[in-house]
Amino acid sequence: MRIPLSAPDISEAEIEAVVEVLRSPRLSLGPKLTEFEKNVAAYAKTKHAVAVNSGTSGLHLCVRALELKPGDEVITTPFSFVASANVLLYENVIPVFVDIDPNTLNIDPEKIEAAITPRTKAIMVVHVFGRPSPMREIVEIAERYDLKIIEDACEAIGAEYENRKVGSLGDAGVFAFYPNKQITTGEGGIVVTDDDAIAEKAAMLRNQGRDAKSDWFEHIELGYNYRLSDINCAVGVEQLKRLEFILRRREEIAGKYNEGLADNPHLVLPKIDFRDGRLSWFVYVVRLRENFTRARRDSIVVEMNRRGIGAGRYFAPIHQQPFYVKNYGDRTGDFPIAERAAERVIALPFFNRLADAQIDEVCETLRALIETAQLA
Ligand SMILES: *Cc1c(COP(=O)(O)O)cnc(C)c1O
Repeated sequence: MRIPLSAPDISEAEIEAVVEVLRSPRLSLGPKLTEFEKNVAAYAKTKHAVAVNSGTSGLHLCVRALELKPGDEVITTPFSFVASANVLLYENVIPVFVDIDPNTLNIDPEKIEAAITPRTKAIMVVHVFGRPSPMREIVEIAERYDLKIIEDACEAIGAEYENRKVGSLGDAGVFAFYPNKQITTGEGGIVVTDDDAIAEKAAMLRNQGRDAKSDWFEHIELGYNYRLSDINCAVGVEQLKRLEFILRRREEIAGKYNEGLADNPHLVLPKIDFRDGRLSWFVYVVRLRENFTRARRDSIVVEMNRRGIGAGRYFAPIHQQPFYVKNYGDRTGDFPIAERAAERVIALPFFNRLADAQIDEVCETLRALIETAQLA
C-alpha cells in the first residue's frame, strides 16, 4: 500500500536500546523486563504490571488468574477483536455477548443486566478503538451482582475515564503492543492490576507455572511460556517515553480527518470530544449511513486498496466469525446493532507519520468513491 492502514513509529532510541540489550547477557527475564513493568505500572497508576508476549496471552492469564472455570459465563461485546472472546473459550468459559451502543460502538450497559444468570462470573469490557466504555454503569452492575471485571484495554493505552487510566478500573486490565497499536514492542502485552494475587498468579503462569521462589524445574501450576523478551521490553521502554507525543499526534490526525470529511451527508464521523475523560486514538473509523449496503461498503474498500490506500473493515463481529458459527451456531440477527455497524464501517489510514497531503488524498478519494457508490 502506498498509504498503509497503520505503521509503527520507531525512533533511533528504540534501535539503540535493542542493540544495548543484544550486547548484554540478559535477553529474557532481565532488567529491561523489570524496568518496562515498573514504568507501565507507574503510567497506569496500578500496583503491578506483568509483561507477556501478546495482548491475547495477557487476557488469557486474567481468565486463569480470576479462576474462571468451565461453564462459567462472562459478559462481553461481539464488536471486538476475536481474542476478547477466544481467551474465554481457552478455558471453556462461555462468552455471553451483549449488543453495543450505536453511538460509541462499546457494549451497551443498559443491556447487560438482562444477560446475567447465576453462572455469570465476570464482565470482559473492551474499550473499542480507544474509546472508554461507560465504566460508571458497568462497575455499578458488577458490584451489585458480585462480578469481576477484566478490561481489554488492548486498543486503549492512555485513554482516561474520570481522571483514571483505563486498564486500572477493573480487577485486571491488559494493554497490547502489536505493531498496529498506539505503541509497540513488536509483539507483546501487559497485565495491569492492583491485586497482589492476580499479579503473582499471572507472573507464575507466564513462566511455566514457576513461582518466584521455586527453582527452574519446579512447576506449581499448569503454566505457559508467555514471557516477553528483554529485547521487546527495551523497545517498550522507549515507546512508552514517547506515548504522550504519539497520543497527541493521533488526536491531531483524527481532528484533520474530521475536518476533511465534515459535512458529508453519507458519513457518520467518530466523535472527537469525550466528556468523561480522554480518548486514545487506535484507529480512525468512519461509518456509511444506513442506506448503504455492505456490498457498497466493500466495493469502496476494494477500490481504495486498488488505488494504494489502506482501508478495511473494523471489525467483523465475533459471533459471525466462521469458527464461532461452526461451533456455536449461526447467531446472525441476535446482535443487530453490532452487525449493522460492522457492515458500514471503514477504517482509514492512521499512523503517526501520516502527512497532511496524504490525509487530503484519503478524504478526497473516499468522497469521490462514495459519490460513485451512490450512483451504483
Ligand atoms: C490487539 C487486540 C488484542 C490483543 O492482540 P495481540 O495481537 O494478541 O497482542 C486483544 N483485544 C483487542 C480488542 C485488540 O484490539
